[in-house]
Amino acid sequence: MRSMVLDHTVTAAMDAAEGAVDGLVQAVRAGDLRLADHDWLTAQLQATRALAARLEWFSLQVVREVDNRGSYVDDGALSPAAWLRHRARMSPGEAGATVRTARALAAGRLDATSDALAEGEIDGAHARLIARHTADAPAGAVALIESEALKASRAADPSVVAGLMRQFDHALDPDRADEAAVRRYERRGVSLATTLDGMVAGTLLLEPVAGATVLTALSAVSPLVAGDGRSAPQRNADALTAICAQFLASPDAPRSGGGHAHLIVTVDAETLASSPGSQGSPGATLGWVGAVNGTTAQRVGCDADVTVVAVGGPDGIREICRTRRFFTTAQRIAMMARDGDRCAAPYCDRPAIWSDAHHVIPWAQGGKTDIDNGALPCAAHHTMLHEGHWSLTRTADGRYLMTHVDGRVIGPEPHPPGHSRPPPRQPT
Ligand SMILES: [Zn+2]
Ligand SMILES: [Zn+2]
Repeated sequence: MRSMVLDHTVTAAMDAAEGAVDGLVQAVRAGDLRLADHDWLTAQLQATRALAARLEWFSLQVVREVDNRGSYVDDGALSPAAWLRHRARMSPGEAGATVRTARALAAGRLDATSDALAEGEIDGAHARLIARHTADAPAGAVALIESEALKASRAADPSVVAGLMRQFDHALDPDRADEAAVRRYERRGVSLATTLDGMVAGTLLLEPVAGATVLTALSAVSPLVAGDGRSAPQRNADALTAICAQFLASPDAPRSGGGHAHLIVTVDAETLASSPGSQGSPGATLGWVGAVNGTTAQRVGCDADVTVVAVGGPDGIREICRTRRFFTTAQRIAMMARDGDRCAAPYCDRPAIWSDAHHVIPWAQGGKTDIDNGALPCAAHHTMLHEGHWSLTRTADGRYLMTHVDGRVIGPEPHPPGHSRPPPRQPT
């Protein structure tokens, strides 16, 4: 009889909640959230999150009840997690975590966590973390861990709470924490493959120290600068490329195939010397990735240690020359002193540390690898110069012009007071 009364009360409350949410949806559809001010929107977001947390508490109670009586078998499921996947469309991971959390909150050791979730003070993700990390803790430690974790959960997002819980794990059982660290280390891996359109794609999983090393290096090479329009993945890609290029250029780089490791471009001499976008050039091949455009081969040849293998003639291979076309660090510093610590392209303010070195007169057309013939465009502008068919020229007063093959001209940039480039020089 009591159960009937409870059923009836809960059903009525759920009906009322559904009615309230219906009213909310209709009100938003009829009105316009764009007219609301920011503080009001923030308050609505926080209230919604709290309501979602309270509803999650209710759903955990339901899961616990079904788990307790084993009625998931009525739906043909072999476990409460399988029942959640079928009936609540949860992923296996989410279903498992939900069952563990429902059991932990009902076991009497985490009453404060259960109350905080029921009141909407913490989120479901916080409760799942607390349940998982107290599962094997000694009874005496649970109360301490729970109170610290709840304090953090009321103030911070789950990643902060996860860090705190890992500290507790380590303090409680250093051996187990070390075993977990070894397991994480064993899962490490970087997989790279060439896609059908010649890009290189990959996945990366690093243990914490290696991950921190990589993140530190990437952020040092590609710091967040106001006005930089690149996305975070694009900044990471540019930084990783710059680090690897610097490594290959260093005298300490390991050897492969009898010489220093270096990019190998195979291209016919005609393609290498042709002007950008000229018809009929067969392109080139680049070690590891295969076919690339002739213009891309020219860009690679602009700032790298390149072995050019010219194929043709009666004996097959006409010419092999090892060329050193990258600008030295001293040359780069001299160019930065001359042009300012910015990309050479007009109006671009990416720092020169991200830049490729570029031959203003192409190397294949007799341009020298010296400071007079060098400039430092960022990787994006360097790609525009080669694949995009622009050319870069320096004016008599030391500024830069970009000219497209179709006649468009960008620059020279005006030089108002306080400009971050050196002032124009008097033509001599
Ligand atoms: Zn170039
Ligand atoms: Zn640029």
